[in-house]
Amino acid sequence: MDYRFSPRVAALKSSAVRDILKLTQGKDMISFAGGLPAEELFPVEALKEASLRMFAGGASALQYGLTEGYLPLRQQLCSRMEQKGMHVTPDQMILTTGSQQAIDLLVDVLTEPGDTILVEKPTYLASLQVFQMHGLKVVAAESDEHGMIPEDAARLIAQHRPKLMYAVPTFGNPTGRVWSTERRLQLLELCRTNEMPIIEDDPYGDIKFHMDAEYPSLFSLEGRAEGGIVIYTSTFSKTVAPALRTGWAIGDSRVIAMMAKAKQAADLQSSTLDQQLLDQLLRGFDLDAHIALISKSYGERMQEMEGLLKQTQLSDIRWLQPQGGMFLWLELPEGLDAEALLRASVAKGVAFVPGSSFYAADPQRNTARLNFTHNSGERTVQGVKRFAEAVNEFLARR
Ligand code: PMP
Repeated sequence: MDYRFSPRVAALKSSAVRDILKLTQGKDMISFAGGLPAEELFPVEALKEASLRMFAGGASALQYGLTEGYLPLRQQLCSRMEQKGMHVTPDQMILTTGSQQAIDLLVDVLTEPGDTILVEKPTYLASLQVFQMHGLKVVAAESDEHGMIPEDAARLIAQHRPKLMYAVPTFGNPTGRVWSTERRLQLLELCRTNEMPIIEDDPYGDIKFHMDAEYPSLFSLEGRAEGGIVIYTSTFSKTVAPALRTGWAIGDSRVIAMMAKAKQAADLQSSTLDQQLLDQLLRGFDLDAHIALISKSYGERMQEMEGLLKQTQLSDIRWLQPQGGMFLWLELPEGLDAEALLRASVAKGVAFVPGSSFYAADPQRNTARLNFTHNSGERTVQGVKRFAEAVNEFLARR
């Protein structure tokens, strides 16, 4: 059989992160590549107890459920959103199979093939894949340590008239950067004037290293769901466990209803079991205390990796200290191609993601994303040592 694959899918670049994850399975490989949380910090005991409570209530966790998601969990999530200044009701929320599906559904309902989407440069790789799958043209605005640069966004809007904007304003993936409040307000105003909805993707906002620091979401600054321009999405993947595949989106009830229609066609609903388990977890477990605990540990892991990188005395490597999230974004010496460096690194037993994966076009090739949450202690020490050896050998060979 000669399969004729859809050109859209055939042209899709396979995720470098997922390919690297394949490479790193089952070997003495230290991986700084995937955005993996620390397994030893998963709340296993609390989840066991939650599952007992869940099944004590009968077998409904095994049944089909609403496309919009398990109502008691949506109600609890609305209260959690309220505490962050985001006021929504359950009909302004949909539960999804990870926030990845929320992004996919939003693009489904808000765009048509051939439309243009505005993103920041660089941005989350798997969202770029979604945009490509939907036949969108991606334009990327320059960003600096304060976030997307409004003047560049305005220029691209005037030139390309994008249908919508996608952004990760708090602890972005891959850069870990945080948009300043001033930038948030400027970009909101810009999108409002141009009637451009914004997908605000916020998987990392809770993982902050300074607990009192406040990073107001675009959604909270917009101040309303109905008629507002921001649709916000987040997930339990980083705060509880990614295997539960539960994310959510909030926004205008008409957008949410449209997403529910698209979701019916995609997968009918997300797992009732996962949603009921999370609902029970939130009832018997202090999730905020858990988030504080993992954030503290991740902050320490970040400092550990940063300290080790400094000790290597590699010259011409720069990074901005992340204030949260899961990634260190490195700028390597000018002219160094991180994709070629990756091959040398993997031969030494350490993996990372070359920064080029996060650009829709014109990649900055001397960049790399290192995850600091999955490893700690001796593995981080060894991993950074191998990484530094690979860089040095690579530079010597040039
Ligand atoms: N957005 C960003 C920026 C991410 O980094 C991730 C996970 N790597 C996701 C969305 C999707 O996460 P999930 O589907 O597990 O919620």
